[in-house]
Amino acid sequence: MSNYVGRLAPSPTGAQHVGNARTFLVAWLHARSSGGRLLLRVEDLDTPRTKEWAGDQAIEDLRWLGLDWDDVATLQSRRETRYREILDELKSRGLVYPCSCTRSEVEASASAPHESQIDGTVYARTCAPRLSNDADALDAMGIRYAWRFRMPEVTPAWSDELQGDQWLDAHNLLGDFVVARSYGPTAYQLAVVVDDHDQSITHVVRGDDLIYSTYRQHAIYQALGWALPKMLHVPLVVGPDGKRLAKRHGDSRLSLMRQRRLGPELLLGELAYSLGLLKSIRSVTSNELLSIVGSSDSWLREIPRKPWIYNPQ
Ligand SMILES: [Zn+2]
Repeated sequence: MSNYVGRLAPSPTGAQHVGNARTFLVAWLHARSSGGRLLLRVEDLDTPRTKEWAGDQAIEDLRWLGLDWDDVATLQSRRETRYREILDELKSRGLVYPCSCTRSEVEASASAPHESQIDGTVYARTCAPRLSNDADALDAMGIRYAWRFRMPEVTPAWSDELQGDQWLDAHNLLGDFVVARSYGPTAYQLAVVVDDHDQSITHVVRGDDLIYSTYRQHAIYQALGWALPKMLHVPLVVGPDGKRLAKRHGDSRLSLMRQRRLGPELLLGELAYSLGLLKSIRSVTSNELLSIVGSSDSWLREIPRKPWIYNPQ
């Protein structure tokens, strides 16, 4: 029995589209071809962007694609107590500090010009001299704040199973990042680490728009003495203009294909072709793809390392 544990982790901030389907397919094929377990986690913390309907719809989309999992869905919104427990540990060890800067203050004091930012604003560490218990005074004054994680000065390298060795100066290029707020739920960066650890996830398969987030999460793993799972960042799907697939490119929602009473076979064929699993596009089921993949990891080498251009019809 394999010790592989993977996860399917839709974010219900909107409808799932072809790009999500491609990443879910890789996650499913990798787990199943490894004889592993696959868990379903709905990452529904991103209020107010999380939509009530979108979690159930994502589950229906996955079933329609013919992808299965081995547990009942975990909802991040039910795990707040656990996240706060870990946040308390980070506070007590001085690894986070309360930042009361507003969004516009963060932007205005950004330590790098906008053009040189690689993954969002680099926070200027204005509040970094604060200690954890300075939060009490902010609470007493009714001031809202975010808990920022102190990005260590030395960034460890890590290796992506698809994209090879990774390193950048995360201290200066990504900076201190938000893990929670004094109002609202825990932030994604902390919740995902706690979940992956608690669920003994060994392999994380996700879109490569999150590749920089891995540096942030790696820093949290190291602080907690936990091991980074194996990471596989699948290149994104883009529209014909080379930009990330979006509504303006046309409708690529999976729910629309279901409404039109289409089966998933042709889409799976297109996705498999784009992943180097088929020589030409044809209708195929998820289980046929599993037998094509076989039990070795060699198919991963066929996945193109550049974005896949998709033209919604
Ligand atoms: Zn601040």
